[in-house]
Amino acid sequence: MSTRPDKERPETLAVASQAVHAGNAVDPGTGAIRTPLVLANSYALPDDPSQLSWSSFDTPLYTRNSGANQLALQRKLARLEGGEDAVVLASGVAALHAVFFTLLRTGDHAVVSDVTYEAVWRLFADILPARYGVEATFVDTSDPDAVRAAIRPTTKLVHTEVVANPTTRVCDIGALAEIAHAAGALLSVDSTFTPPPLYRPLAAGADLVVHSLTKFVNGHGDAMGGVVIGATELLDPLRADAMVDVGGVISPFNAWLISRGAITLPLRLRQHLASARRVAEFLASRPEVAYVAYPGLVGHPQHELAARLFAGEPPGAVMAFALDGDADRQNRFVADLRVITSAVSVGHDESLIVHVGPHGARAAHWPEEFRRYGHLRLSVGLEDPDDLLADLAAALETATP
Ligand SMILES: *Cc1c(COP(=O)(O)O)cnc(C)c1O
Repeated sequence: MSTRPDKERPETLAVASQAVHAGNAVDPGTGAIRTPLVLANSYALPDDPSQLSWSSFDTPLYTRNSGANQLALQRKLARLEGGEDAVVLASGVAALHAVFFTLLRTGDHAVVSDVTYEAVWRLFADILPARYGVEATFVDTSDPDAVRAAIRPTTKLVHTEVVANPTTRVCDIGALAEIAHAAGALLSVDSTFTPPPLYRPLAAGADLVVHSLTKFVNGHGDAMGGVVIGATELLDPLRADAMVDVGGVISPFNAWLISRGAITLPLRLRQHLASARRVAEFLASRPEVAYVAYPGLVGHPQHELAARLFAGEPPGAVMAFALDGDADRQNRFVADLRVITSAVSVGHDESLIVHVGPHGARAAHWPEEFRRYGHLRLSVGLEDPDDLLADLAAALETATP
């Protein structure tokens, strides 16, 4: 058995190198150069455990408090986002819940994107105000003046996505950070659609970054998880509440899978982005298509902002569009696709499409064309882009009356 110490790798490595090395360590027990999967629920106690805190998350004790694979994944994700610390939880929604329920108290106010993720909409439209007395104002977070105008003396948090699901609305994280901080509030950002190295909200001034690890970070469509990244001072209370006392812990196996998936995130993302640009341009060129919402296209309301935020890179691999026609036509088109899979979720290796109608209170805030036609949300995967274009072209032909 080797006890060779692990190398301390420089913190200054580029994101692609961090994706490979961060969080991985030589296993002291076996000398294995991969962090092993540790499925144990409990860890060995010291000779006198009588003074241990059962709520501690510093020492591996019980997997709801801390565990080897969870710690390894946290190290990798903190490095990828350039954050001090990270806490991983069972799903993206568990991570979002952790931010809101830990930071907000009765009487506090939050300013939230009016096209925010569906579960976040429900939390702020219903659950937090009705049960916990937290108030929220939904605003267009792509408009810094609207955010500034919504701030109250009790505002503790501004929350938005960088690129919204499914509208693809983009907001200026740096401008929102200034507004939040001037009001003594924090800015939390859901960056699920814009994972590193495409965008790093902490560098733009955000306080907390959330990802659904279920999506691009794992990338293989086979494990759910969520993460919050930021300063330890902000994350420790979140670990105590959401992990230890509420129990939204990630399973060691999922943490191990996501650590493995995240190794190729920068490499995969490059292909996702290049293919998405081609797919968006192809769809926009077709007369059967009523609209394409993708910030990389000229004419998108935040096209110039996206070009600035993402330094000219394609702004993600998710877009929404609709055929000029009714719901039957959208469904026929999806049914005629032979490569792209009809299923929810985004950021998987396979391209995924879902037809969503304009229902629910949140949809009232969607752009006019989303309400008129519904939308097809397309997450461009890792298939050869020529196969994707051919699949879309063939279904456009057959779905045309
Ligand atoms: C999927 C998603 C979530 C929720 O993540 P889960 O892992 O499904 O809980 C949150 N935000 C965005 C933008 C998402 O796409």
